[in-house]
Amino acid sequence: CGIIGYIGDRQACKVIVKGLKRLEYRGYDSAGIVTAEGGRLHIKKGAGRIDELAEKLGFLEMPGERGIGHTRWATHGIPNDINAHPQTDCTGKIALVHNGIIENYRELREELLKRGHRFDSDTDTEVIAHLIEEELKSGGSFEEAMRRALLRLKGSFALGIIYTEEPDRLYFVRNESPLVLGIGEGENFAASDVPAFLEYTNRVVFLDDREYAVLTKDSWTVKNLDTGERIEKPVHEIEWS
Ligand code: GLU
Repeated sequence: CGIIGYIGDRQACKVIVKGLKRLEYRGYDSAGIVTAEGGRLHIKKGAGRIDELAEKLGFLEMPGERGIGHTRWATHGIPNDINAHPQTDCTGKIALVHNGIIENYRELREELLKRGHRFDSDTDTEVIAHLIEEELKSGGSFEEAMRRALLRLKGSFALGIIYTEEPDRLYFVRNESPLVLGIGEGENFAASDVPAFLEYTNRVVFLDDREYAVLTKDSWTVKNLDTGERIEKPVHEIEWS
C-alpha cells in the first residue's frame, strides 16, 4: 500500500528502506525492493515486516543508485513471498510495483497465456509487466510500449516501473491511487505520500489521475497517459515542520 522511488547518487536501498518505514502507517502485509546497477536488476521481497525483511533478506546491502520500494496490501493472491512486489515479465528486464486493483486482469491474463506468457504469481499486478513485454515486441520506445500497455488496464493503479535497457530512468504512473514526485538537486523521488522523502526535499509535484512521470537524476517530465503529450506541472514547496 505504499511506493517510494529514488534516482540520484545515493545508495538507493537506504533511501527506499527509510521511505518504506515512513509509509508503514498505510498498512501492509509484504514488502519488496528493486534496485538497478547499470543494466542489472536486483530484487528482494517477501511477506512480513520491513525491519524483519531488511534483516533476513539484506535490503540495506543492495547495490545501485536507483530503485523502487513497495509495501503490499494483498487484494489478488495471498500474502506470500512470490506475490510480493516487484513483479517481472518473462525476460526479467521489466520490474514494477503497483498499488491498486486491475479489474480486467483475468481477461488480460488469459490473452497473455495464449500468447505463451508464463506467470509466477497470483497477482493482478503481474499482467502489467507481461503486457508491456508484449507491446515492446511491436517496436517503438519502451515509453510508448508502456503507454500502449497501460491504456488497456481498467481499474486503479499507482505504478513504479524500471527497465534494464534504460539505466538512467524510472517511470511512475497514477490513476486513482496517490503518487507525488519529490524534486531534488541531482536526485529525484516519487512516493505515495510526501513524508516518504521529505527529509531530502520539500519541493513536490502532485500527479493527477492518468498522468505519468519520467524521472532521471537531473530531470523530471510529466505526460498525459492517454495522449503521451507533455504537461506543465507546478512545483509546490511543503513547509518543513
Ligand atoms: N492488487 C495488487 C496485489 O494484490 C496490489 C495491492 C496493493 O495495493 O498493495 O498485489
